[in-house]
Amino acid sequence: MTALPTFPYHPDPLATGSLRPSAEPCCCCGQPRGLLYVGPMYTAQEAPGRVCPWCIADGSAARRFDAEFTDASELTGLPDDVVEEVCSRTPAFSSWQQGRWLAHCADAAAFLGPVGIEELRAHPEALEMIRSEFADPRRKEHFLQSFLEALHADGNPTAYLFRCRACGEHLAYADGT
Ligand SMILES: [Zn+2]
Ligand SMILES: [Zn+2]
Repeated sequence: MTALPTFPYHPDPLATGSLRPSAEPCCCCGQPRGLLYVGPMYTAQEAPGRVCPWCIADGSAARRFDAEFTDASELTGLPDDVVEEVCSRTPAFSSWQQGRWLAHCADAAAFLGPVGIEELRAHPEALEMIRSEFADPRRKEHFLQSFLEALHADGNPTAYLFRCRACGEHLAYADGT
């Protein structure tokens, strides 16, 4: 198998679960490349199957199916070439609600994977982002605390961890059904 393409905004899409081993052919290049993308793909018409990471990296999957992997509306205020790279040439990730892509230092951040409360405790600044997003003065503190405690990498709710490519700060958001 050819070496996996480099995705600056999604450094390890195998580890995050966005790519899976598969013997099925890619619906873009027609080749069984050994890996297929299993995350979201927004297209006008549904693609006839799954695409391989090579067709994501070179932009051919996005061109052929007029597809975005992440909705560009989630990346407002960033340079066009960054938005283009994230939305059209980067594997996205499965989430409960429409996926968001966090940004920092005027650049999109690198997605590190779905995480739970245990992993977030290692990155207090990321945990604090979720806490402040969900803090609601009308609710008692223990509602927020039990929401945070329930966060799990394969659970509902889930948190999504990113790292700023410039300053290295960890960022996160959470969602659930
Ligand atoms: Zn392909
Ligand atoms: Zn930063």
